[in-house]
Amino acid sequence: MSTSSPVEQTLVLIKPDAVRRGLVGEIIGRFERKGLRLDATVLRTMDGELADQHYAEHVDKAFYPPLREFMTGGTLVALVVSGDQAIDVVRALVGATDGRKAAAGTIRGDLALSNRENLVHASDSPDSAKREIELWFPAGV
Ligand code: ADP
Ligand code: MG
Repeated sequence: MSTSSPVEQTLVLIKPDAVRRGLVGEIIGRFERKGLRLDATVLRTMDGELADQHYAEHVDKAFYPPLREFMTGGTLVALVVSGDQAIDVVRALVGATDGRKAAAGTIRGDLALSNRENLVHASDSPDSAKREIELWFPAGV
């Protein structure tokens, strides 16, 4: 019996702090070295309306206003990354939300020291991956 290989796509944002710090190549390199593929990429800024849609689950939280300010405050890179179980694999490579607590070896654990400016967003489920890919790449991937 052959084992199935559920190739998934996930949405990654390389956040403005990572672009400012010159970490785009380092972060993309980690995904590439893992064996994931880059299916689409765009360099752009996020306006407030897109931020509210992207972070719809968080708009009512206390941390949202400064998060919105941060995410709309500079250029970011949006990527569609694919591979076997890419959604969970990318989340594991990215690490826990708070860079001060994220495990060493993860992107946030190695490179971030903040729970807001934590370098990367990655979709957390198949439903959010689908929704976020459609939001960032409305013309399709
Ligand atoms: P993740 O990005 O790990 O999925 P969440 O979805 O919980 O984390 O939160 C979205 C983003 O909001 C985080 O990546 C981080 O930038 C910011 N954030 C989350 N929790 C906090 C917090 N307690 N204080 C400040 N910023 C936060
Ligand atoms: Mg999240």
